[in-house]
Amino acid sequence: MERERLDADVLIVGAGPAGLACALHLARLIEQHNKSAAAGGATELSTENIYVLEKGRELGAHQLSGAVMDPRGLAELIPDFERAAPAGAIDTPVTDDAAYFFTEKSSLKFPITPPPLKNHGNYVVSLSKLVKWLGGLVEQKGVNVFTQFAGASLLYEGDGIAGVITEDKGVDKDGKPKSNFTPGYELRAKVTVLAEGPRGSLTKQLVSKYKLDGLNPQVYSIGIKELWEAPPGCIQPGFVAHTMGWPVPFDMYGGGWVYGLQDNRVSLGLVIGLEYHDPQFDPHDAFQRYKTHPFVRRIIEGGKLVRYGAKTIPAGGWYSMPRNYVDGGLVIGDSGSFLNAQRLKGIGMGIKSGMLAAETIFEALKAGDTSAAKLAAFKQKVDASWIKKELWETRNFHQAFQGGFWSGMFHAGLQFISGGRGLKDPWRVGPGHERYHKLNGKPLEVERFKGDGKLTFDRLTDVYHSGTRHEEDQPCHLVVADTNICADRCTREFGNPCQYFCPAAVYEMAEEKGQRRLKINFSNCVHCKTCDIMDPYQIIDWVVPEGGGGPNYEGM
Ligand SMILES: Cc1cc2nc3c(=O)[nH]c(=O)nc-3n(C[C@H](O)[C@H](O)[C@H](O)COP(=O)(O)OP(=O)(O)OC[C@H]3O[C@@H](n4cnc5c(N)ncnc54)[C@H](O)[C@@H]3O)c2cc1C
Repeated sequence: MERERLDADVLIVGAGPAGLACALHLARLIEQHNKSAAAGGATELSTENIYVLEKGRELGAHQLSGAVMDPRGLAELIPDFERAAPAGAIDTPVTDDAAYFFTEKSSLKFPITPPPLKNHGNYVVSLSKLVKWLGGLVEQKGVNVFTQFAGASLLYEGDGIAGVITEDKGVDKDGKPKSNFTPGYELRAKVTVLAEGPRGSLTKQLVSKYKLDGLNPQVYSIGIKELWEAPPGCIQPGFVAHTMGWPVPFDMYGGGWVYGLQDNRVSLGLVIGLEYHDPQFDPHDAFQRYKTHPFVRRIIEGGKLVRYGAKTIPAGGWYSMPRNYVDGGLVIGDSGSFLNAQRLKGIGMGIKSGMLAAETIFEALKAGDTSAAKLAAFKQKVDASWIKKELWETRNFHQAFQGGFWSGMFHAGLQFISGGRGLKDPWRVGPGHERYHKLNGKPLEVERFKGDGKLTFDRLTDVYHSGTRHEEDQPCHLVVADTNICADRCTREFGNPCQYFCPAAVYEMAEEKGQRRLKINFSNCVHCKTCDIMDPYQIIDWVVPEGGGGPNYEGM
């Protein structure tokens, strides 16, 4: 197929905080360089040769976060961010924080908020608004930002990468071109930066091809969130609560949050480690039950659901960090494991990783050398920065919870006083999907939570509130290598966990003429990537749908 080819200096895949921080910082470095280059006769660089690709229908559409932001990263990128940010992006400073232990009917407030959950000095933000603002600043610098375009495959060159091919548009569900068919572009760049967020589809290809995994493979959690308009006076803006215990079983990792925003809005959600044993555990159901707890119910009852979303979170930290440089390529943000799972903080660290990538790329462009040897400076910059210090102190944190809540708390305490070392260092773990227990006689179908339609909801109602939309007549972007495994072996061994772990009702086992068959409602997909991570046989491949498809996390 003939494709139009475009050449750039730098191609950034993913317009989240990490990708946009990289673009903005690089554009500024180039501007400064050009001022002195003009005077000194050196070669100028151009900000127009920076491209950013984003699969969402607009900037911020695919951004989902709690989101309590540690301002450290953003303050380095935009020192006067508090004054400069538009209304709502920085919603409110944290005014109070607390941690609770939940049983089904009661809650116990910790007398002192554990240090990792202290949030004074932080801000409750809307990540989608923050990203929209950052994207505008990037465009003002002359950078080309292409929304509704996804990087579909990598262009490999030598021992690295040289760009991407974007997805073909206008292909029907059988893979045939429609009247509006447009082949994807071949975008070539001296440096390609993967900033795809958690479980990036291109990052997965890259890590697998060049065996870039860190000491541990990446492990993930899923975060399910709702944004509510609560009755007036039920929560103070800037109040940040983290909860442990019910409804998360003690053999699992997880916890909840309730954050107060301006105008009586409330961010609430539940995080569940994607490494649980019960293949029929259902994170969406657990989150719905979470809202029936007296503490949460008291805040939101009588209010209105505004938005819903779900997304995975890379939880592995330092020991799961892949090698994040190859010839012509860097990996940043969530894709590169730049997230502190103990504090559930990735926004600031993603921004910082983007800035360090920008400095590395700038030096490489000036030197005319974008080889892995030159781009390895990124790793050195990370090691010398506060990112390493923060991730090093929590390097064994998430692993300890694979033994359950009590073991996790015990080890987390020891790690805290020993600077992250604890009793085992490094603590090795395998991927979460290997930890399922087989059904062993448990009934195949469990009763599904339907919700009362006021406080609690079924999946389809929630998906409706995620603003998700996909062109229906296109190939399914959830590619299952062998559906016979689903109908037969997976049914017998695990009872088809995809029906339970997917927070968007994408997967269903249907009966047709006495045969069990996998039905995929791909247009519901909220791009959380849980299926790619938690399918027990690793036969589901999440590939990009036509650009512009997916959720719309406006205001989240
Ligand atoms: C439920 C939840 C709660 C959280 N709470 C907090 C919190 O309170 N505080 C905090 O600091 N952090 C929190 N985080 C983490 C934080 O949101 C992330 O660490 C941060 O957003 C990472 O930024 P990023 O730029 O790396 O990735 P993302 O924000 O995920 O952005 C990646 C972008 O790349 C795009 N993309 C992906 N693949 C492609 C492709 N192939 N082609 C084109 N575009 C592509 C995506 O659409 C997306 O817009 C939370 C995360 C979740 C899921």
